[in-house]
Amino acid sequence: MKLLRHGPVGQEKPGALDADGQARDLSLLVPDFTPDWLAPEKLQALAAIDLRRMPLVPKGTRLGVPVAGVRQFVAIGLNYRKHAEEAGLEIPKEPVVFTKALTSLAGPDDDVRLPPGSEAGDWEIELGFVIGTIARNVPVQSALSHVAGYCLANDVSERDWQIKRGGQWGKGKSFDGFGPVGPWLVTSDEIADPQAIPLELRVNDEVRQRSNTADMIFPVAQLVSYLSQFMTLLPGDVVITGTPQGVGLGIKPTPVFLRRGDVMTLSAGPLGTQRQQVV
Ligand code: ZN
Repeated sequence: MKLLRHGPVGQEKPGALDADGQARDLSLLVPDFTPDWLAPEKLQALAAIDLRRMPLVPKGTRLGVPVAGVRQFVAIGLNYRKHAEEAGLEIPKEPVVFTKALTSLAGPDDDVRLPPGSEAGDWEIELGFVIGTIARNVPVQSALSHVAGYCLANDVSERDWQIKRGGQWGKGKSFDGFGPVGPWLVTSDEIADPQAIPLELRVNDEVRQRSNTADMIFPVAQLVSYLSQFMTLLPGDVVITGTPQGVGLGIKPTPVFLRRGDVMTLSAGPLGTQRQQVV
């Protein structure tokens, strides 16, 4: 299933994509995709709905973050070798973990607003996953059973705030709208292997990042298990898993950063596409 939320900011309603790729409204049956709706039995109940009988969402309707009531927004850094190299940083021996403010979450096609004076806005296409059941000290072998589904994410970053303003990275990654997620939460049953998802990001018409989650240093199962050793992962938590090479900071000899008017287009195979205008 591809779960989505449609409508204006703060007034999103739950929906799902039907077999023809049309968004259907589920608000008559489901209040919202709050964390409790991500449990396996609730997802099974959702899967039993005959989407063809549900109202169509009008074309052009805004999509929001595909899950509601997110309580933790966790990010992994330097999870692709070539990205660590382009950043001039060591290949990590254990996952690098930081958090993004919840208020940075945004819909997949919302404008990205650079903060006043920003000259180092940057892009980071990433695979995201959403927790479905509480994960605490889980082994790698059963870790994926705690994942409700997968989504595309852009870990938008302001490099001056990230690097030059003293620790920690969250400073450069937490501005409002710096965490577009979606268009859909693709439930785990539809993703046979989260380590086989193509990722491509363009700025305007130029391909800047092209990779595959097969290149991740720490795969999703390992990340869930690792995080769960030192924090409890809750249903609805969004985790983004690091970006491949090709960010603006890594462009030689001179980094290229986002300018107002730029358009970022992201695609990730079964996870869909995003498009953000920089304002
Ligand atoms: Zn990132």
